[in-house]
Amino acid sequence: MFYYQTAISNNPLRTYFTYSSEQELSSGSRVIVNFGRKTRQLAYIINRINKEDCPDGIDIKEIDEIIDYSALIDEDYFNILTWTSDFYLSSPGKVFDLVFKTLGNSPLDTFSKNDSSQNTIKRYNTKLTKSSLRKKRFVVNASLKNLSNTKITQQGMDIIQYLLFYPDADLQEIIHSLDMKTITPIQTLIKNNVLSVENYQERNGSLSDPRKVNLSTAQKMIVEDFFKASNEGTLKHLLYGITGSGKTEVYFEIMEKILSQGQQILFMLPEISLTPQIIKRTKARFPGKNIAVYHSNLTKTLRRKVFSQAVHSDIDILLGTRSSIWVPLKRLGFIVVDEEHDESFMQSENKPVYDARKVVSKLSELKGIPVIFGSATPSIESYYEASTEKIHLHTLKFRPKGLKLPDISNVNLSKIPVIKGFLTNDVLKGIEETIKKDAQCMILTGKKGFASYVTCGVCGYTIKCPNCDVSLTYHKGDGDLRCHYCGYSQPFIYQCPSCSNNSLVPRGFGSERVEEQLQKLFPDLRIIRIDRDIAPNTQELEKAWKIIERREVDIVVGTRMISKGLDFPDVQLVVILNADHMLYFPDFRSTERTFSLIHQMSGRAGRARKEAKVIIQSYSPEEDPIRFAERNDYESFYNSEIQKRHQAEYPPFKRIILLESKDTDSDKAFERLEKLKERLNEQNDTALYQILGPVEAFLKKLSGKYRYHMLLKIDNDNDIIKKVKTILKQNDKYLSEISIIIDPIRTII
Ligand SMILES: [Zn+2]
Ligand SMILES: [Zn+2]
Repeated sequence: MFYYQTAISNNPLRTYFTYSSEQELSSGSRVIVNFGRKTRQLAYIINRINKEDCPDGIDIKEIDEIIDYSALIDEDYFNILTWTSDFYLSSPGKVFDLVFKTLGNSPLDTFSKNDSSQNTIKRYNTKLTKSSLRKKRFVVNASLKNLSNTKITQQGMDIIQYLLFYPDADLQEIIHSLDMKTITPIQTLIKNNVLSVENYQERNGSLSDPRKVNLSTAQKMIVEDFFKASNEGTLKHLLYGITGSGKTEVYFEIMEKILSQGQQILFMLPEISLTPQIIKRTKARFPGKNIAVYHSNLTKTLRRKVFSQAVHSDIDILLGTRSSIWVPLKRLGFIVVDEEHDESFMQSENKPVYDARKVVSKLSELKGIPVIFGSATPSIESYYEASTEKIHLHTLKFRPKGLKLPDISNVNLSKIPVIKGFLTNDVLKGIEETIKKDAQCMILTGKKGFASYVTCGVCGYTIKCPNCDVSLTYHKGDGDLRCHYCGYSQPFIYQCPSCSNNSLVPRGFGSERVEEQLQKLFPDLRIIRIDRDIAPNTQELEKAWKIIERREVDIVVGTRMISKGLDFPDVQLVVILNADHMLYFPDFRSTERTFSLIHQMSGRAGRARKEAKVIIQSYSPEEDPIRFAERNDYESFYNSEIQKRHQAEYPPFKRIILLESKDTDSDKAFERLEKLKERLNEQNDTALYQILGPVEAFLKKLSGKYRYHMLLKIDNDNDIIKKVKTILKQNDKYLSEISIIIDPIRTII
């Protein structure tokens, strides 16, 4: 009999459970066990132990069923999973689920390619598609939002999703990529008017020519330096390149060489930047290579397909968001993390908590392969690592082809008259001039919705969410008040619940209001609004990008979503309406966020032509992030910011562990942290950590639960961190209802 420690799938406990089997099993294999009251529970083999090491006094059950006789992941991926669970003090079962949730407890073979399907397809092709569907492209008619109401089969949804990501796919490609046996699902979609059929047309526009470009001398030098350093054993690289400096070309050049050595590539982007444009560009740059796409919006079938391809080593390049780190690539030779400053690389809302950037870093060490992090506004921590030579820095300071950075003006709203509450004369003039030049404008607003809050003009009462401690946002289009945290909504009212006067007034400027006012001022201009209401998912956002790309609009109004994503060559004016809207949040990263947003947004202007302009409006033009963004000066911003972090003892000088307790009973939530604090104080003779709190969280109530936070500040020293984690683990029973976030991206939530 063999004995194994296993991790139980979907179990929140931070421990392993022991089971036995007559079979010899490898670490990372999936098995079915009887666990608690559940008779069939998925579990993962962690390691084999000796009989004498089994826990005493417990009747060790036998494993019920073995799913994988040999593990689907190699040793490196197994190690990265146990490392993640250790590093983030999270339940090993939930961490292993990150890799295996797409498979569940089905064997892999179910998803492998069925070779006989090819013949079937050929038969159907000649019979049914001869004249009608060949050499056509398919256009998805309805928006995906509406589609969810109609009756479409799973396979139909897969086809739609595939087409939204690869709009130029022909019949053959769809059938092949989705392993379809018949074309009936496509015909049904066409019959039901979900898809329409079009002839292929070469589309115009400067974006559709993604062929290989000649690298500038600066780009070439970076590629050479990258390989030189990597060959000498330097695995971690940071590419700091200003907006529009051609970072992607550098990645591509490196990727080409890595691919020629028969290795695989993982190319990670933030959710919002993973667009068909980058997919198309990658495909065009690497014809004949197998390029797969992975993100959390994919249907389960497509995710399984990618997983199966990965296990069968059928992928050359995997493009994906943070979850793509969990697709096991056996011949992985290089990782790119583009827009590395983006906070979406960290999963802190869902358990398990992890930061894909840290996981990638560790994976690169385990596999001994290089990773490159790239950004125009690297995170302060990454740039600090570069300055202390823990990571190799490459810099691209110029835009190629002599393209200039835009002219930036920094407008003080407290000193000049404001029209309609948010516009200045400079902006109005700027819009008029830009339109005259036949170019486009982009206007960044702080929040979505019409008015960010509704208050009473008589008594000052503000309408708040009944479940959360936040004001409700007015959405005029739908006529309701909404909570952006828990989704609560109620119809808009005029009568004040406090003083009964009909005196409630919407205040603040959301994207909806900005759009409405601009339309009134410029009735002839075509305006599009982009925010989470309009584009709740990647597919909808993609449609909006297309409208802009095709020049069907003059002005784009949007939230931070528009600061990322594509290059629009015709944007010549960028306006940031209230640049300081998140500057005064009491979080140590607020300045960094403000700088990064303004700088990234400014970078949308003048990607192709010369005289582009940026207007930054705020009440704090002299604050560091704004005045340095005005000068496009990341390095000076970094220098001022790193000093402040040092003085205030924040990362990268200190490490932070955030402990959060939530409960419908406020006292209970608080006491839980107090008890833990007592224990931690007792074990802190050598002053390993500093305890701050517990205090009420910034949002003291969310979704009906009261929230309290406690912070541990620790020296940035791996040995000390290890000791602290050991102490935390010893107090596991106090932690069962407390969330632990190691290295949080926000301390105020
Ligand atoms: Zn009132
Ligand atoms: Zn709420």
